[in-house]
Amino acid sequence: MSSTAVAPPACLRRPLVVPRRFMFGPGPSNVPPRILEAGANPILGHMHPEIFEIMSDIKSGIQYLFQTKNSMTLALTGTGHTAMECAIFNAVEAGESVLTAVNGIWGERAADMAERIGAFRTLLAGLYCISDEIIKKKKKKEPVLFFLTHGESSTGVLHPLDGIGDLCHKYNCLFLVDSVASMGGAPLCMDKQGIDILYTGSQKVLNAPPGTAPISFSDRACQKIFNRKTKPVSFFLDLSWLANYWGCDGKPSRVYHHTGPISAFYSLRESLCILAEEGLENSWERHRKVAEYFHDGLENMGLKLFVTEKSARLPTVTTIVAPPGYDWKEITAYIMKTYNLEISGGLGPSVGLVLRVGLMGCNSSKANVDMVLTALKNALKHCHKSRV
Ligand code: PMP
Repeated sequence: MSSTAVAPPACLRRPLVVPRRFMFGPGPSNVPPRILEAGANPILGHMHPEIFEIMSDIKSGIQYLFQTKNSMTLALTGTGHTAMECAIFNAVEAGESVLTAVNGIWGERAADMAERIGAFRTLLAGLYCISDEIIKKKKKKEPVLFFLTHGESSTGVLHPLDGIGDLCHKYNCLFLVDSVASMGGAPLCMDKQGIDILYTGSQKVLNAPPGTAPISFSDRACQKIFNRKTKPVSFFLDLSWLANYWGCDGKPSRVYHHTGPISAFYSLRESLCILAEEGLENSWERHRKVAEYFHDGLENMGLKLFVTEKSARLPTVTTIVAPPGYDWKEITAYIMKTYNLEISGGLGPSVGLVLRVGLMGCNSSKANVDMVLTALKNALKHCHKSRV
């Protein structure tokens, strides 16, 4: 008689089948063969010298990508949300105040995270925040951290960053920027723009599989973090442990903290190589040109862009006003079924209002724009339109 009460599942006797798909939603984006192959290299120990060398290469790649000389630069094990929590949990203590700009869903989530660790949260609403407003709010609350999303993937807004770092520092406040959806696809220079904490994800412009999140901390941020009165609430995300694991703390030896995702490190390193080969400025320029070509094509079809101000349009993720009279779900389903191509609906405040198309990293090309435009044209022809 068997000692196991649960039988091996029949579904696991079937081979793994994963279809090929055009990943043109807000992420993850397609992973090119070169990056997939890098991830298929043999597993080594997470404390082996070869892996430390790969981690060191990744660190240099992130410094280039972020345009920073910060030595506290590493890749977290986890997705963009891990980086959001790592930034907030380390930089903020209970009872302190956090100001978040809300130009879509991510500011709300950052505020939620701050609230969970007992911090006071103030939201700064508005699709497109302006600096004067920030000053006014700051005077009232004296926040220790100001959170801003550079590329708001839910609304398609690219927020300007110039001047905000200086403003934050005048009020002794750290400047935290989410660049998950924009990094590598829109100009951003961490040191020059006075950003204290910056993070991104692996699965958008970098075209690596989801699961690692590059992050960097300025000396000013480290100063606050390493002089905390209380321990950060998360052991896993405690920067002093992570700094040691990533060789950022100047100590002669590293101590086991967690088992790094070795295969994900290989892929991330390869994606950073590809970006370094193209050059950051060339990548920004390619995304800008392709986005403009796409936006013109959409307008020529009679579709409207959700973000009316051209300079505030995110070049990586485009939000299109949901075509009146149509059910947006029918459009995305038609395009998936007919073209094996993912575009998505809105998220958070933009649900029901927009369609979202992400063309990031290797996906950002005029040929892919043409494919999306054809798919949209045919969807509008074939999907049900009510009389409005
Ligand atoms: N911030 C932004 C701007 C994002 O677009 C996303 C992912 N869509 C996240 C944070 C969260 O990243 P993840 O899904 O990798 O946790």
